[in-house]
Amino acid sequence: MSRIDDLPPLREVIRRHGLGARKSLGQNFLLDLNLTARIARAAGRSTALTVVEVGPGPGGLTRALLALGARRVIAIERDARCLPALHEIAERFADRLTIVAGDALRVDLEPHLQGGPVRVVANLPYNVATALLVAWLTVDPWPPWYESLVLTFQREVAQRIMAAPGSKAYGRLSVLAGWRTKAQILFDIAPRAFVPAPKVTSSVVRLVPRPYPLACDRHLLERVTEAAFGQRRKMLRQSLRSLGVDVPELLAAAELDPTARAEDIAVEGFAALGRALATTARDAA
Ligand code: SAM
Repeated sequence: MSRIDDLPPLREVIRRHGLGARKSLGQNFLLDLNLTARIARAAGRSTALTVVEVGPGPGGLTRALLALGARRVIAIERDARCLPALHEIAERFADRLTIVAGDALRVDLEPHLQGGPVRVVANLPYNVATALLVAWLTVDPWPPWYESLVLTFQREVAQRIMAAPGSKAYGRLSVLAGWRTKAQILFDIAPRAFVPAPKVTSSVVRLVPRPYPLACDRHLLERVTEAAFGQRRKMLRQSLRSLGVDVPELLAAAELDPTARAEDIAVEGFAALGRALATTARDAA
């Protein structure tokens, strides 16, 4: 029997520690060991690996990551009620599981990362999932400190991440994710697999950083996508006015059609707009 098999079933852990799910913390626990193992495998098997897990909860996915052989798991959990359950796992893997109590949006991971490849794996709390993804996609310097992100989202968010120009789901998140990473939906998870069951289907997404994203300042890319998608039904010659620069000149420099709309423009077009904005703003100064 492995040290993982030794641990009590997750349902018992939840009952014993009084871990009734809290909606405010996005708590939908995965108790199906086949699914937690599948998510862990999606991050890849490597004994050299450090895995950062956000929101371990009662520790189902954490156990799967340890069972698969990760050298170290750094688990960041905001709900203090879950910490005793996680410490029970850590006792069996003293040198391999580090529990960080706090809000993943604020935690400084730097002191916990000690060299070697790092991957992020999480069944994310839905209420902060997009904010966390944006934070990971906008880290500087780039390439980032992680090799990949394997994350569970509501399917609608996964579709926004993957969306192509011309589709309704295409927006700022699609551009940012497409600019800096290659993303792929790996598989869906039905609501009934979670306790409690959410209203919607979830999707597991893997994002792998592009080593050389198209040249463009990250802040300028965010400014142009914010302006363009802020008025997505308007033509660019109108929607980009909020940038406060000479818009016809900007669009000419980016070689974009002034009558096109945000949802028609591919990542390459937005990167060109960001570069053109850098030049236009500099010339106007
Ligand atoms: N990983 C567990 C599983 O798969 O069963 C729990 C996943 S549950 C969807 C999300 C977890 O994230 C909960 O344990 C919740 O307490 C935690 N959480 C919510 N907001 C958080 C935050 N800002 N930082 C860290 N953890 C958070």
